[in-house]
Amino acid sequence: MDVKVFEKYIERARPVLEALEKNGHKALLVGGCVREALRGNEDRTDLDVTTGASPQEVKEVFRQWHVIDTGIKHGTVTVMMPVEEGGEKIPVEVTTFRSDGDYSDGRHPDEIRFVGSVEEDLARRDFTINSMAVGLDGELIDPFGGREDLKKGLIRAVGDPNVRFREDGLRIMRALRFASVLDFEIEKDTADALLLHKDLLKQISPERIFVELKKTLAGKSAGRVVREFTDVFSVVIPELEDIRGFHQRNSYHRYDVLEHCIRAMEAVETTPENREYMKLMALLHDVGKPSTFTLDEDGIGHFYGHAGEGDRICRAILQRLRSDGFTRDRICYLVHYHDLVFEEDDRLLKRWMSRHGTEVLLEILDFKKADNIATGNVTEELLDKFNRIKRRIMEIEKEGDCLRVKDLAVNGKDLMDAGVTPGPAMGGVLEKLLYAVLDGKVENDRAKLLEYLDRPEP
Ligand code: ATP
Ligand code: MG
Repeated sequence: MDVKVFEKYIERARPVLEALEKNGHKALLVGGCVREALRGNEDRTDLDVTTGASPQEVKEVFRQWHVIDTGIKHGTVTVMMPVEEGGEKIPVEVTTFRSDGDYSDGRHPDEIRFVGSVEEDLARRDFTINSMAVGLDGELIDPFGGREDLKKGLIRAVGDPNVRFREDGLRIMRALRFASVLDFEIEKDTADALLLHKDLLKQISPERIFVELKKTLAGKSAGRVVREFTDVFSVVIPELEDIRGFHQRNSYHRYDVLEHCIRAMEAVETTPENREYMKLMALLHDVGKPSTFTLDEDGIGHFYGHAGEGDRICRAILQRLRSDGFTRDRICYLVHYHDLVFEEDDRLLKRWMSRHGTEVLLEILDFKKADNIATGNVTEELLDKFNRIKRRIMEIEKEGDCLRVKDLAVNGKDLMDAGVTPGPAMGGVLEKLLYAVLDGKVENDRAKLLEYLDRPEP
């Protein structure tokens, strides 16, 4: 075995591995970092260690360091490994070799047994590519052929896939997640088993499903995985069944609603910060279409009000999945306004920037581009226009013009002094002044604004 492959991660974890070994306990790197090392990715920061020491023994070995009881019932503690002066401590998750007893509820093992060997520990893990370990000697322990599957690009359950999914239904989502993120295929028996057992996801906590779902959709092969396993995603989001195969009856659209949504998800440009919610938003953006569908006398389909309806349906979906409030509200907002009209017109752009905020407006615009690409009928001219509008919005933002009431050169007190009666009407007056500034009718200057106030309505 090429020790070099693991060198970087071993060096990083060395203090923890050596301390355990010195005290007579076996200790090896396991799971994600072993998999990623073999894929040539040396950038992971989280390190998982598996050891023969019991949690109490681990705490004893590291009594001088900060140790957190992350999941002590399951044999996991987090050791905060000090690094050279000044650096952040590196958290290392240390878990005792364990094997899980029966899972009568499909979620939690009835009992956890601490076991003697790393091989037994690897056997309770989910997929072959996640069931490898490597110690200080750099020797890979790979009893289930994880390295081979990594080379072939396969997600394969350890042992009988039917048994493994019945033990823990979340593994169904995890299989899809790894397939999407790594751009892997799911091996045939594993794929058959997860489809057969898809309804087990109904017993899994929505929070855990939502974490996996967001990661899955943010993965590079999300589109392929959603197409191939729509049946599974429909257990998690039954609303997808309503848009699947839904014909749009409109020459503007080449695809049914679900395929259109998947294509929008694939096309949307994202940042590492907004990727998860933008991808999910794209997949859901047209869920309001089936219930707002009408046919006109020419037999052409329309979906009046589908964006508002989509907002309402998305809110229900995201509440059911126990989304955090920020993600839920942002997705619903973007769905609500995904049909916003953009023109190359500074007055309009400034109004939209003022109303939606620049960050959100740029997300709406990025999505609109993807939405058009996903019709299958987009033109280069239209994409160029969107790109020009995006650049213009960023320029306006840089110019630092007045875009909000709070940026106005006058405030409520100035208006009161000028004789405006205090009360709710005040907000309206300030807003009128803001729109006058945005429209270029008056400069954002205190004297000029007060003078404008006295002018009669044109
Ligand atoms: P990443 O951190 O990139 O998500 P990972 O492989 O580290 O990938 P984690 O969810 O952090 O995944 O889990 C760490 C390891 O624990 C996995 O590699 C796997 O060996 C094991 N594992 C995690 N969840 C399960 C599960 N539900 N069933 C069986 N084994 C699991
Ligand atoms: Mg991990």
